Amino acid sequence: MFLGHYALALGAKRIAPAVSLGTLFLACQFADLLWPTLLVLGLERVEIDPGNTVVTPLNFVSYPYSHSLVMLLIWSALFAGAYSVLRRGRTIAAVTVGTLVFSHYVLDVIMHRPDMPITISGTQKIGLGLWNYPGTTLALESALFIAGAVVYMGATRERDRAGRIGLYALIATLVAIYFAALYGPPPPSSDAVAMAGHLSWLFVFWAYWVDRHRGPRRSS
Ligand SMILES: [Zn+2]
Repeated sequence: MFLGHYALALGAKRIAPAVSLGTLFLACQFADLLWPTLLVLGLERVEIDPGNTVVTPLNFVSYPYSHSLVMLLIWSALFAGAYSVLRRGRTIAAVTVGTLVFSHYVLDVIMHRPDMPITISGTQKIGLGLWNYPGTTLALESALFIAGAVVYMGATRERDRAGRIGLYALIATLVAIYFAALYGPPPPSSDAVAMAGHLSWLFVFWAYWVDRHRGPRRSS
């Protein structure tokens, strides 16, 4: 899943308006931001395997530190803890950030074939395999993403042109990358996957920047 993760982050702005969209992006995509680095370090493994599921040409051979149930619970607790230490007293915000980190596991389990580990060293893996149904995948992710974008735009308003154009450009870029991955050729190698994966950090910084150019929209 790609757009669906960002959709939850965008929508979470309504629950926790004080949290920057950059932090919300960091939380929802933490597993996928950690993963490429662990690939480079050789701690996790992916193979190019067109047809692994209909939607993705990747075989997620091993990714227990970034994508197991146990580790996502731990990352989630660490994120919530770190947030409440750094920003004292914002319990709802801290819980929202922690929940977003864990939501990555739930959404990925829906999409992936049974390759999502439960524990770090165990062999039990789960996955509902929605990626074998491209039409449903596309409909679900698009609906989530549109809803998330609408909620974010309703919860915030632009302070200046950058707050409007920057947001539209961010949304358009995420959609373009999603469709390029969906309909484009498979990546040439697992090294290329790891390299491209690191580019996701760009969206985190981009979201921090956009969020600074937008303020809360007060309902009248
Ligand atoms: Zn993931």
